[in-house]
Amino acid sequence: MLSRPTIISLDSPLAELEARQIGGKALMLHVMMEAGLNVPAGFVIPWDVAKSFSESNWAIEVTDAARGLGDGKLLALRGSPLTPVNGLGESLLNIGYTDDLAEQLAKSSGEPLAVFETYRRFIQDYAQIVMGDDPAVFEDIVALYMEERGFVSDTELQGSDARELASRFKAQFESNNGIAFPQTVGEQLHAACIAINRSWNAPRAKTHRKLQGIPENTGLALIIHEVVQTGLGETSGVGRASTRNSQTGKAQLSGTFAPQAVRPALASSANSFMPLQGAEASLATLIPDAFKQLHAGLTALERHLREGIEAEFAVSEGKLFFLGARPARRSALAALHMAVDFANQRLLSREEAVLRVDPFSLDKLLHATIAADTKRTVIATGLGASPGAVSGMIVFDAEEARDLAAQGAAVILVRPETLPEDIRGLHAAEGVLTTRGSMASHAAVIARGMGKPAVTGASNLKIDVAEGKLIAPGVTLLRGDIITIDGSSGQILKGRVETEKPEISGDFATLLKWADDYRRMQVRANAETVTDARMARDMGAEGIGLVRTEHMFFEGDRLVAIREMILADKEKDRRAALAKALPMLRGDFIALFEIMTGLPVTIRLLDPPLHEFLPKGGAETDAVAKSLGTDGALLRKRIDELSEQNPMLGHRGVRLLLSYPEIVEMQARAIFEAVAEVQKATGAPPIPEIMVPLVATRKELDLVRRTIESTALAVQKETGLDFAYRIGTMIELPRAALRAGDIAQSAEFFSFGTNDLTQTTYGISRDDSARFIGDYQNKGIMKADPFVSLDIEGVGELIKIAAERGRATRPDIHLGICGEHGGDPDSISFCEQIGLDYVSCSPYRVPIARLAAAQAHLRKAGKST
Ligand code: PEP
Ligand code: MG
Repeated sequence: MLSRPTIISLDSPLAELEARQIGGKALMLHVMMEAGLNVPAGFVIPWDVAKSFSESNWAIEVTDAARGLGDGKLLALRGSPLTPVNGLGESLLNIGYTDDLAEQLAKSSGEPLAVFETYRRFIQDYAQIVMGDDPAVFEDIVALYMEERGFVSDTELQGSDARELASRFKAQFESNNGIAFPQTVGEQLHAACIAINRSWNAPRAKTHRKLQGIPENTGLALIIHEVVQTGLGETSGVGRASTRNSQTGKAQLSGTFAPQAVRPALASSANSFMPLQGAEASLATLIPDAFKQLHAGLTALERHLREGIEAEFAVSEGKLFFLGARPARRSALAALHMAVDFANQRLLSREEAVLRVDPFSLDKLLHATIAADTKRTVIATGLGASPGAVSGMIVFDAEEARDLAAQGAAVILVRPETLPEDIRGLHAAEGVLTTRGSMASHAAVIARGMGKPAVTGASNLKIDVAEGKLIAPGVTLLRGDIITIDGSSGQILKGRVETEKPEISGDFATLLKWADDYRRMQVRANAETVTDARMARDMGAEGIGLVRTEHMFFEGDRLVAIREMILADKEKDRRAALAKALPMLRGDFIALFEIMTGLPVTIRLLDPPLHEFLPKGGAETDAVAKSLGTDGALLRKRIDELSEQNPMLGHRGVRLLLSYPEIVEMQARAIFEAVAEVQKATGAPPIPEIMVPLVATRKELDLVRRTIESTALAVQKETGLDFAYRIGTMIELPRAALRAGDIAQSAEFFSFGTNDLTQTTYGISRDDSARFIGDYQNKGIMKADPFVSLDIEGVGELIKIAAERGRATRPDIHLGICGEHGGDPDSISFCEQIGLDYVSCSPYRVPIARLAAAQAHLRKAGKST
């Protein structure tokens, strides 16, 4: 015996409905009733009952309830999933059609053709959905029937005696299934409920849900309501309507209506569909009263739900019924407009409006996109590593990219992977495509920082540099051919396609301003160039959270200087080489401090292994040797010496800084001299935060700190200025996280470098992960790519430990994150949970981070929409 009621009427109190598992569709029918909309009479079988149909006698109760809807009423059975799912929402209309009822309706409606036409379609639907019959056998019957009568068109068929066809369908049903077509509503309903339940639990449906990221075992409640008769009469039909323009979000009632059609799905495919208004033949002119009811109903529902609405409706002899509704589909721009509009109408509070917009969707507003109805010839797909769409000539070499760009050509740099020395090519190119590398690979990180489109890890492409070929499955392109890359979807397209650069609208700015009012964490940007720093400010960044100083060495004379330094044997020569770079770096820092006036700037000392600054070998090595005035053999020897088995775990970060303290000295001096100069010029001293990378022990930090402090003292003495600065470290190694309490003795701030921390915690190379992470996700080992969205269970635990231990030693320690995760809404939410002070991300992701940080803070305070 069931302890809970088997069925629930749709007009039961909301609390009662919410207490049961009835799914969103059923709940929406109730909400529509509550808002005063006309909804067909019906009831729901909650999931907890529907799933145990074989163990109970609920069929009897259901049949009784169905009878309660009225004698001879046709019924609709529809699934109401507990988690919304696209497609596969099977339903069966017109349950209750029997021989007797068809005869009766034929007489009473005076339209026997239409009645038997509906009956035979029901027999076919029932056979297909309930019994699993092949629909083709019924189509064959129709074809044969038409042939016998010499019919050539469907119109002739519709005008013929559908009674005969209905009886042939019944005979076919019996021959297929060994039972007569059921002639009671109870039998039909019972079998249909079982069938819909079964197909919901079939492997195909489970896979379908899994692909949409929905739990495969999510439940299905069943809605049973009376069918609104729409196939008969001039003033009947079905339609769909939306209260908002899906592109702009502006209030605009639009949709389609199909007179005399039976199902809403047909309203968009039937030849006879018409607009709701604004045309000579429209719902408003054909059935004005129904249009008024529709308009009034949807306006009321929109206000009730405080949400743009998309609805299905039916009109039966002039009377309007709402069959279902859901939030209106919307572009990113439309979502912003609706949130701001509802807040301005005081239907939503500003907090609620801020919570309504998906931060991920903002990405689309910040980059060029491929025009919606463009024909695409996709040759391969990689990882959408940096959003935006761009077209350009294929170029395989960074130098060539620079040369061609200098001549005004738009180029796409295509490489197996990019290296630091490709930076100039990346600057010159419109976008970058790599066949290897993850979302956190060099190309991905740099491109995101520059706001340039990038597709990485396109592993089904092959590059033949010698032959100048880019080989995709089924197509080979040559150097100079035009391709388009879409860094949002990861698609690589042949040829040039039209792109659109959307503007940041007024609503966008308004919502972000509101978000800032509810945000606790600061949002900074990772930037090292003037262009990026300006962009960061435009996007609302409140300082720089990471200046990767190595990028300052990849340009022209600086690269020469660092290469000279690397080649030098003696400290004296290394210092001389570094001295050449110092004024250039000082100029860079001055520019950054000026752009970021009054805001913090976190500068990281040199991080990558030195070999990254040297050529790869071959002809390039000889050219570089020549330009440095040194011997090719000597350069090659040095390259060999510097080569490492695992450079990412090798001589880099603080380890390198300890081997070459003169690098620390030069960088610190460039920073402090810049501080002094800006202080003299403006009277407003910038406060630099100097950050040491890849620290594992306090001792490492202590030693580097000593060099920084003595350099500061020297510059203070030389300039006569007493400026402030802070020294801190990145937490990028599990050991650093565990020993954070000790390290905090020497660090005024921690910045979590979650790219490396993910790499070192998982032991997965961030540059090679793209090859198998997808597989891991498909197998359900990982939900998301941990280089994109923080692995909260593992890496997050280490961050939490480090934050706690750091704070225990130094309660006012400043904590932030500057890995790629700093721009990921889910990771930002975690940062809020553990109380970090700021997140830092690529300039283009700053608006996303501002909104996500506000939402995280509001949610933490228990706010919801
Ligand atoms: C990090 O490791 O998260 C980080 C910000 O440094 P990088 O990406 O430059 O290694
Ligand atoms: Mg790092």
